[in-house]
Amino acid sequence: QKAEWAQLKTAKTITADGKHFELGANIGTPKDLDGVLANGAEAIGLYRTEFLYMDSSELPSEEDQFQAYKQVLEAMNPKPVVVRTMDIGGDKKLPYLPLPAEDNPFLGYRAIRISLDRQDIFRTQLRALIRASAFGNLRIMFPMIGTINEFKAAKKIFLEEKDKLVQEGVKVSDNIQTGMMMEIPAAAVLADQFAKVADFFSIGTNDLIQYTMAADRGNERVSYLYQPYNPSILRLVKHIIDSAHKEGKWAGMCGEAAGDPIMVPILMGMGLDEFSMSATSVLRVRSQMKHLSAEYMQTLAERAVTESTTNEDNEKLVAEFTAED
Ligand code: PEP
Ligand code: MG
Repeated sequence: QKAEWAQLKTAKTITADGKHFELGANIGTPKDLDGVLANGAEAIGLYRTEFLYMDSSELPSEEDQFQAYKQVLEAMNPKPVVVRTMDIGGDKKLPYLPLPAEDNPFLGYRAIRISLDRQDIFRTQLRALIRASAFGNLRIMFPMIGTINEFKAAKKIFLEEKDKLVQEGVKVSDNIQTGMMMEIPAAAVLADQFAKVADFFSIGTNDLIQYTMAADRGNERVSYLYQPYNPSILRLVKHIIDSAHKEGKWAGMCGEAAGDPIMVPILMGMGLDEFSMSATSVLRVRSQMKHLSAEYMQTLAERAVTESTTNEDNEKLVAEFTAED
């Protein structure tokens, strides 16, 4: 098995019936690049930039951010790098940016909600990103988008900063995709409309499950409700993927479920374009996909959202469809 994985390091991700899926890695800092390259990821599907803010004693400067983003883009070039703008709030705090105490931090002032409010912070980050875009294949992603107006507001600020930099004579890419996390149920339900304005979706199952099931993702007492294969979750996921495809956009997943061996066959069947996971999972998933037929998984995916009524139903269904005979 180890020998097979070693061989797969330099291979593309191809299923038993010849379909390609893109396997990306999630990173938190440029230090994670070694693992990404060592495991043969085809992209970075999620760069969680909040660690740049959390590892610092003050707001990181435009220059410091630029250097970090440039390093990652250059190392991966020409492979795509999806950089998510900062997702502070919820359980992630900054000592130098006191946030109001809230009864429900996960439902509060967080991520894009802070960025649209504190535009000084947001514009600095976007400038650093846009400057770095000249050094690789950059895609920018906004976290915790719940409404079309939030997406449009974020996109407008991005375009303003890009125009300014062009006016200043700075070299920038003309090809920066701007997409969004799909992690709030309201956005997932309205994915067909979001697909008209966003260049891509990346499904954040960690939060999408938490908010859909109304179960805190860190609370052990309700962890039985954390059900990635619940048909309610899978219907949302399918709607997100189908909506993207109808508008000619791509859909990925960067939540933990993207590397889950039970979820992977279902997602293959739904035609998810990109799977992003911890670097150490890439070769395992590449090997799993190599042994499965994407077309056969379509039947599995169809049944998972139409016939099954529980998380457990779908665990059994996947076992049936992936059993070696
Ligand atoms: C998610 O919510 O699934 C996700 C990838 O983002 P985070 O885990 O950083 O909230
Ligand atoms: Mg999230």
